[in-house]
Amino acid sequence: MNKVGIQVFSIGALFATAAFAQQDFSKVEIKTEKLADTVYMMMGAGGNLGLSVGQDAVFVIDDDFAPLTPKIQAAIAAITKEPVKFLLNTHWHFDHVGGNENLGKAGALIFAHENVRKRMSAEQFIEFFGMKTKPEPKVALPVVTFTRDLSFHINGGEVRAFHVARAHTDGDTIIHFAKSDRIHLGDTFFNKLYPFIDTSSGGTVDGVVAAADRVLRMAGDKTKIIPGHGPLATKADLKTYRDMLAKLSANIRGQIKAGKKLEEVVASKPTAEFDAVWGKGFLPPEKFVAMLYGNLTKKK
Ligand SMILES: [Zn+2]
Repeated sequence: MNKVGIQVFSIGALFATAAFAQQDFSKVEIKTEKLADTVYMMMGAGGNLGLSVGQDAVFVIDDDFAPLTPKIQAAIAAITKEPVKFLLNTHWHFDHVGGNENLGKAGALIFAHENVRKRMSAEQFIEFFGMKTKPEPKVALPVVTFTRDLSFHINGGEVRAFHVARAHTDGDTIIHFAKSDRIHLGDTFFNKLYPFIDTSSGGTVDGVVAAADRVLRMAGDKTKIIPGHGPLATKADLKTYRDMLAKLSANIRGQIKAGKKLEEVVASKPTAEFDAVWGKGFLPPEKFVAMLYGNLTKKK
């Protein structure tokens, strides 16, 4: 999910639905940041991209919205003359897999967790936004799927992709550029904006906290971390995010146990201390609280 591609409308005080805005992609610029000898981050309009570029292959993580493919290809061409050989999707959301059809047609081999392929193969309904998505054409679907983890031995090191259970969705993958000490978390990490957790796609707030904990055990003070949305991050940024989510979910879970209704939980302003930093993204505080409440009251 991103703040540019979706407009969130309010119906009443607390219910949100969403629709695609006909966004003007002509104004979007792809910004490239070099993170190591062979690792890059690219930012466009949707989810952040990661790249491994070296002697063996051009390996790309996520591909933003479809209309941005030519700009992404131009940004890659500024680094290497080679075409994209491998593409890995961190999860199934349209702001991360939008370019799959274009890159698949151009010859990229697509990898993802098996649930990404399942969800892209059939119509989906993202409950929180009241949004339907269509099945993707075959060429856009992951060709190689996995359930736990997968390693790419390319470009002078190991690029390790591993699944984290029921976090942002039920098909999330985190990618560790082991030799370069860089990590891409997909949408299990939103840096400095309240995260969307897709309950209707199997996401859980506890899974997001667990994913952050797992990466915090791997990361050092010099590790550079690519979030699904927001700016490049450090281990300290990820820890702040993890602690914010853990504190808020404990608070809201306690209020649910005490029998509080959604309106009462929102009125208690549980996010007040965090809003200045996190509340300016596409999920304003009251919608974020409603999302957490919905996630924590969902029967597993
Ligand atoms: Zn997402």
